[in-house]
Amino acid sequence: MLISYAWSLAHRPINSLFTLVEMAQEDIFKKLVSHCKEYGFVFPSSDIYDGLSAVYDYGQMGVELKNNIKKYWWDSMALLHENIVGIDSAIFMHPTIWKASGHVDAFNDPLIDNKDSKKRYRADVLIEDQLAKYDEKINKDVAKAAKRFGESFDEAQFRSTNGRVLENQGKRNALHIRFTKALNDGNLEELRQIIVDEEITCPISGTRNWTEVRQFNLMFSTEMGSTADGAMKVYLRPETAQGIFVNYMNVQKTGRMKIPFGIAQIGKAFRNEIIARQFIFRMREFEQMEMQFFVRPGSELEWFAKWKELRMKWHKALGFGDNHYRYHDHDKLAHYANAATDIEFLMPFGFKEVEGIHSRTDFDLSQHEKYSGKSIKYFDPELNESYIPYVIETSIGVDRMFLSVLSASYCEETLGNGETRVLLKLPAPLAPVKLAVMPLVKKDGLPEKAREIMDTLKFQFHCQYDEKDSIGKRYRRQDAIGTPYCITVDHQSLDDNCVTLRNRDTMQQERVAIAELNSIIADRVSITGILKKLI
Ligand code: ATP
Repeated sequence: MLISYAWSLAHRPINSLFTLVEMAQEDIFKKLVSHCKEYGFVFPSSDIYDGLSAVYDYGQMGVELKNNIKKYWWDSMALLHENIVGIDSAIFMHPTIWKASGHVDAFNDPLIDNKDSKKRYRADVLIEDQLAKYDEKINKDVAKAAKRFGESFDEAQFRSTNGRVLENQGKRNALHIRFTKALNDGNLEELRQIIVDEEITCPISGTRNWTEVRQFNLMFSTEMGSTADGAMKVYLRPETAQGIFVNYMNVQKTGRMKIPFGIAQIGKAFRNEIIARQFIFRMREFEQMEMQFFVRPGSELEWFAKWKELRMKWHKALGFGDNHYRYHDHDKLAHYANAATDIEFLMPFGFKEVEGIHSRTDFDLSQHEKYSGKSIKYFDPELNESYIPYVIETSIGVDRMFLSVLSASYCEETLGNGETRVLLKLPAPLAPVKLAVMPLVKKDGLPEKAREIMDTLKFQFHCQYDEKDSIGKRYRRQDAIGTPYCITVDHQSLDDNCVTLRNRDTMQQERVAIAELNSIIADRVSITGILKKLI
């Protein structure tokens, strides 16, 4: 039996067992979180001081997985596109940048408190959850009917005629329209009224005793300079994008870049999130991989469509299955955007945003031109005219990507002998350790032979040497950290210079010549293999 929780969510039976299944998902998520700690993937920050809310540290396995995710992204940008280059800008930036970008005035979330539980919520998230509840009700009815009518079931007809479905769909649509309008108008009173009218209760206290809705700025600030008088208020960047915008001219000129071209960057970002929960999904310190693609005005929607497709391809190339992904086009556009979509991934707690793709117009560059007083127009030699480029942005959170990869990879498998093995079916190129080298026994020259093999392979692959405990236990340890291959050196190896190569997922073993190990493994674990799927 195989339980991969992302899979079972995608195929969840929508019937009376629904709640049980939901609970099972929650349980598996808890198991995943403890697995991350137990095997050195993710630790709560400041653990011995009982942690710091929504801040996490990556352990010895986590850092390898994270680095491999970053490499996959970076290479897909900087290697596969001749017209994309990278930078690494500072976290601290001139404070006027955040005035120009709109973050000082508008990087807010609407918050609401429940007076009884004293818990704080994002008002927009409460309403989004309510929309999801209507969807759930509708899907439940559809699934029930599908089961009842079997093959003759016509879903479209059922959706357009069933009384209860139509009623819930009507309520959902009305709520959606009202919510979108309130967001677009920045109407906080109306947001509160929606929460009241929909009878949304606090999950902790169960009451509807809500405060007013207030705006809350998400930027962290600190002071730069030694004296209180001379100190300047600076911000910890809430996104890496602005570092790209303000370097756009430097890169364009020194790199002799011609439009269209892109600048990529990976780096930390900080947001004082109102509610930080779901492990590393929403953190206060996190990492982003962003790419701003500079294009001719008027061509931006074409490029937006292209990047939307390219980025989805990047996700799907990991092989978790297409049903794990969907687009979510935005109804409410940020002040700088003329098109936006999210790529959502099926997390243990439902489909959630992992990446945003935005057509940011010329908003940011125009603002920086205005606030800095410096011209940042691009002279287009083909058109013989100067203009401020338009920008398509792809922005993905490393940590959310990390969580999605782990969610889709975590499995519990019942073996023939009744034992359970926990394994991470990580795509081999992302696995922290590619290869474990094990002597069958700790004597007879087998450890020496195993070390010899490891010494030739360690320059190319991250290897682990393990001679402790039974071979079965050693395999289990490697399964739990997602090591795709284990090599076992036995007595015969001393004579025939061959070893057994065990596959993590199938548990099958093949006998291979030591001299061929390097090329066999390289072929299966290199990032190049996935990159080739992208072109
Ligand atoms: P959300 O709606 O979930 O708050 P967002 O739309 O504000 O996210 P963006 O500003 O588009 O997010 O940021 C781009 C990406 O950065 C997101 O898709 C996500 O992967 C990541 N990200 C944003 N905020 C956080 C956070 N607090 N913790 C971890 N990752 C984050």
